[in-house]
Formats: sequence, structure tokens, C-alpha cells
Amino acid sequence: DFGLITFDLSSPMIEAKYVVIGGGIAGMSCIDGISILDKNAPVVLISASPYIKAVTYVTPITKMLTEYIVEEKSYDDVSLMYPSLRIIKDAAIRISTEKCLVETVTSQIIKYEKLCICTGASPKVISPNNEFVICIRDTDSAELLQNKLKSAKRVVVVGNGGIATEIVYEIEGVDIIWVIKDKHISATFIDPGAAEFFQDNLCKIEKKETSSVIKTIKYTTDELYESKLTGAALGPNWHDKINLINKNRNSSNVTVEYETEIKNIWNTKNISLQKEEDWSIYVELNNGKTYGCDFVVSAIGVIPNSENILVENGSFELSFDKGIKVNSQMETNLKNIYAAGDVCTASWIPARHWFQMRLWTQARQMGSYAARCMVNAIHEESIMLDFCFEMFTHVTRFFGYKVILLGLFNAQTLEKNYELMLRVTKKQEYIKLVISDNKLQGALLIGDTDLEEMCENLILNQLDISEFGEDLLNPDIDIEDYFD
Ligand code: FAD
Repeated sequence: DFGLITFDLSSPMIEAKYVVIGGGIAGMSCIDGISILDKNAPVVLISASPYIKAVTYVTPITKMLTEYIVEEKSYDDVSLMYPSLRIIKDAAIRISTEKCLVETVTSQIIKYEKLCICTGASPKVISPNNEFVICIRDTDSAELLQNKLKSAKRVVVVGNGGIATEIVYEIEGVDIIWVIKDKHISATFIDPGAAEFFQDNLCKIEKKETSSVIKTIKYTTDELYESKLTGAALGPNWHDKINLINKNRNSSNVTVEYETEIKNIWNTKNISLQKEEDWSIYVELNNGKTYGCDFVVSAIGVIPNSENILVENGSFELSFDKGIKVNSQMETNLKNIYAAGDVCTASWIPARHWFQMRLWTQARQMGSYAARCMVNAIHEESIMLDFCFEMFTHVTRFFGYKVILLGLFNAQTLEKNYELMLRVTKKQEYIKLVISDNKLQGALLIGDTDLEEMCENLILNQLDISEFGEDLLNPDIDIEDYFD
């Protein structure tokens, strides 16, 4: 019980103006920001992982949309990059808010003026300590998956977010049972129509081919509800570095089990299943089906690491999702303590087109912004919320297609008060514009659509687009001419 132990102040104390806990993308972006804004200030990074993650290349796509390359760096490399930084390779276990101290596992004590918690999040686990259930989080777990797949015949993938989608697409030579709780695949990011667009890619033999058939459709919300569309601490490109392939097998069938969840996992063979061949593990679903497989890949979301550091004389105010609540200055409820990245929950009133999602982009933006807030707070100044929190943006790749998400791309918060404009070119592009009050509120752009800049501008400036009508998505009309 750490609460009963007082800080051993007789041991040598390290002092720093800024202390950051966690060497992930939020922590490193925070350190990078401080190194620019308060150049020679002593900074301490307390990091528990064997490597540190850093953004090495940033490619701007539009004003607000950027693609990153994230690399794992050694502690020595990072020290060379930031001369005022001292790195403590240890886990923080305790904070004294009164004395402004952090204690690590090896009893090192660090005094801070401003502290930023960037401890990330951990995957939710279906069946803890089960050797046949793998969670993908870091390089080690990705390599474990790669090795296990080399000799696997069938895996069960559970989850319907970005990671599960990427894994299903990347695995070759292994049959996949994809267990999702929604009515359509990849529901965290895309709508049923886009899921249908991707559906062909689940049959992995077919490759992308171009098609000239273009459909432009405008749906009102009611039509949409009735239409067929409703039928259906790694980082970006982490899978490029590993091969999720069993080279001994050619086929890779994907069976999607919709609207169901795992009920039970049997490690040993259940008597009633004896007609099937021997598998390492059996997965029983809520829909009554049972599948034998070599192992389960669990990708069902994360829980913020908000409770792994004990706080003396207080506690962090947590949100319903267990994130540490932060205000528009990235401050927690505890004095001089900030939080950024996956560990925190933005608790300010958000701009109309922004919401939080635990992604690289936002970890980076929050880390950099927290640095500005901390440096300004030293001078007792508060700052305006950064412009990057005006609109949600995310770029990723699903099934080999570029996917860009802007603003309220899934009509979040609009209830039924919106209409959709779609342009679908089979196997080439899927474009969805979300319109409300004759203004663009969000966009989902799949494929090389070249529409991201226009959409971004229309969402930000809230121009009345009624005069454009369906020309907005007419590929023969250059809509940019309207603005000239
Ligand atoms: P993390 O990167 O998790 O870093 C937190 C760090 O804090 C860790 O190094 C941890 O060891 C350390 N730590 C924790 N507790 C302590 C402690 N007490 N003391 C010291 N150190 C501590 N996002 C995207 O935008 N695009 C993607 O394509 C994408 N793909 C992903 C694929 C996978 C497989 C996973 C797992 C995530 C993916 N994400 C993706 C999400 C993205 O990785 C996270 O949003 C991002 O890493 C959050 O950064 P962070 O710095 O907040 O946390």
C-alpha cells in the first residue's frame, strides 16, 4: 500500500521544470514542444517502455490533415535530439501533489514545476492470461502475431475498429472468422454503404480493378434508413513492417459473424465438438456457433492507463471511459498536473465538428498543445484552444484504400437532421458527404478522390452549398471554379 509510505526525501532528488510521464507519441510531442518553446529548461521524461516513439516524417495533406511516420527510437537517440532532456527508464508509481514529486519503481524521486501524464491506454482483454488470445499493442505483440500466423490455419479476430480491419486485410494464407458486434464491418469508422464497398475485398483473391461506372446519389435521412445501404502502441502502417502470412497455404477465407460477441473460450476440446478437427482453442459465440481455431486476435478497444499511478492527497477526476479529465488548457483537476493522449478525456465543450478518438493524430496534437499550455502557465498566461481542435480529421488505409475522415463523417450528433450525398465507383472510390442546414458537416472519402481540401474548407467555413446541388460531386465539374 503505497499510500502508507512517505516519500524518502533523504535519497538524491532530481529536479526539473517540466516532467513528462510516458514516452509514447503524446509524451514525445510534449517534449518536442517544450524544447522549442522553453529551449534550455530542464525536462525529465519517465518512460517504462524499452523504446520511445517519435514522429519522424509529417506529410501535410491539407491545412488540418497530416500523415505521419512513427518510429521507435532508442533512449540514446532521443537524448541526442534533446540536450536539456534527462530520461529516466523506469515506471512512475506515485505522485505527491503537495510536494510536486513523482516517485518511480526504483525509488527515484523527481521534483516538477509542471507535470504531464502521457501514459497512454491498454488494450481491453477478452481472456486475460490465455496464451491463445493475442492483443496487438506494441512491436512485441505484432511480432508474436507474425510468428504464430506462420503455421496457423484459422484464426478468430474479434473487434470492429481500425486495428481489427487492418489485421483482417493483411492476413494471408489463414482462414479468418471475424466476430463483430455491429451490423456491418469497420463500424468505428465507416457506414454500412462503405462497408458494402469494402465487402468485395474480403475475398482476397480479387485485386482492385478500375471501373468507369459512377453513381451519384442523394439520400435524405429517411430514405437512407430505408435504403439497402443499411443492409450490410504501434502506429500508422505498423503492419508494413511485419508479414501476417502463412506461406504454406494459398487460400484465406473470411467469414464475418455479425452482431455477436464471444460467450466462452474453451482451451481444451469440448466433448460435444468432437466431429471437428483438433484445434488449440474453441470460441463459442452468443449466436450459438462455435469455431475451433489456432488462436484468437483480440482488438476490442482500449482503456486509459489512468489508474496505474497512485496520487497522494487526492485523485484524478476520471471520465466515464476512465480517461483523466482535462480542460481546454489540458489541465487535470490536480494543480500543475496536465494530461495528453490516450490517457486523457477532453472535457471541454468541443467545437461543433470535433470529437475525441484515441488516435495518433490526436495524441500528437494534444501532446504539442499541452506543451504550449504548460510553458504559458509558467508565465501565468492561458491560451486559446488550438485550431486543430476545430475539426476532426483522420487519414488511414483500409483494404488497401486511402480513407479520409473529416468532421462529422458519420453524422455524429446530428440525429436524423441531415442528408447524405454519395458518389460510388465500384472498386475505386466511395465518397459520402454529410449535409445539414445546406452546409457540409462531414465527409468520408475512400480512394484517391482529391476532394479533401474542398471538403475541409466547406466544413470549416460553413458556406451554403445549396446552389451547387449534385454538382458538388460531379466528376466532370471542377467545383473549385465556383470559389474563384
Ligand atoms: P502510448 O503510445 O500508449 O504511450 C504511452 C507510454 O507510456 C507507453 O510507452 C507506456 O509504456 C508508458 N507508460 C505507461 N504507464 C507508465 C508509467 N506509470 N510510468 C512510465 N511510463 C508509463 N492510431 C492511428 O491514428 N492510426 C493508426 O493506424 C493506429 N494504429 C494502431 C495500431 C495498433 C496495433 C494500436 C495498438 C494502436 C493504433 N493506433 C492508431 C492508436 C495509437 O497507437 C494511439 O492513439 C497512440 O499511440 C496514443 O499515444 P500515447 O502517447 O497517448 O500513448
